[in-house]
Parts: sequence; C-alpha cells; structure tokens
Amino acid sequence: MQRRDFLFGLAAAPFAALAAPPASMKGIEELQKNWKAFLPAGAAVPSPGEALKLSKDEWKKRLPPESYRVLREEATERSGTSPLNEEKRAGLFACAGCGLPLFTSEMKFESGTGWPSFFTTIPGVFEMKKDFYLIYPRTEYHCIRCGGHHGHLFDDGPQPTRQRWCNNGVALRFIPKDGSKV
Ligand SMILES: [Zn+2]
Repeated sequence: MQRRDFLFGLAAAPFAALAAPPASMKGIEELQKNWKAFLPAGAAVPSPGEALKLSKDEWKKRLPPESYRVLREEATERSGTSPLNEEKRAGLFACAGCGLPLFTSEMKFESGTGWPSFFTTIPGVFEMKKDFYLIYPRTEYHCIRCGGHHGHLFDDGPQPTRQRWCNNGVALRFIPKDGSKV
C-alpha cells in the first residue's frame, strides 16, 4: 500500500475507537477527576505548582526546533502534520516542555481540523490569554507550569462543554497508559 493510500484510509475512518463525550457536565467532571487512572504504573509526573522557568537558550537545548517554535514563540504547526491526530490509545497527553499532564485520551475528539482536539482538560493546567493575530480575538492557552503556548480554545466543540481545545501536536507528548513505547 502506498503511503498516500494509507493516509487516505485513516482519514476515511472517523476515529471509531474514540468514545463520544459524556452527555452531561457531571460526566465531564468525572472524566476530569479520573485523570490519574491514565498514568502508567509507577509513573511520576510534575504538579502544576512546581513552576519550570528556563532561559531561552535552555529551552532551545531542551526542545526540538518545531516544539520550541510553538511552545516558546507561539507558532502554529501545519494542519494535519501531527501523528497525534491518529492517536487512539488510552493514555495522557502531557506538555512537551515540562511533562505536566494536560489531557487524557478520554477528552480527545475528532474535530476534522487536522490538530489534536479535546473537549475538556485536566483541571487547573492552563492559563488563558487573548490574542489578536487574526484581527478577531482568540483565546490562547498556556501551560501553567512552564508557560508554554499550546493552542487556542474555541466554542464550537461537542456538547455538553462546546469547548474545542485546538492543540499543536508538537507541544504535546503522549504517554500510553499501558507503558508501551510511543
Ligand atoms: Zn509545560
């Protein structure tokens, strides 16, 4: 099979393995409370309160160039380029800058935008800021631990939250729950 056919095949299968969002806000709260169930056995993760502050040079050394541009310079990756668009395994999506868990696989949905998208987040992991790059204001969100830019929040997501956290894949690191290799 040629690579093009393979990609086309993935696009045609609408993420059958992803569950639909819970019907109620109570269900969303349950997903948020339950995030630690997605940690691989024995995994230690940082908490939002342990701030990670590094110099520009230190970030450059620590991050691949494409992640640096998004996290530290607020660039946006090209739509459809992230392998995480197709990631359907159970696990956590952590900040590629500092390792803080941000979303679980239960919070992901197929938005059709070509960016990994989520209808809610692990609570207390982002700070919000308005930007005006596209003339109209957009709500931009940053990792609370390292300040890294992740993406933008829109209000056209699925019920019941209607949130669409549109995240750059290069700003995330996927941690499979079963401890398997990424
Ligand atoms: Zn971070």
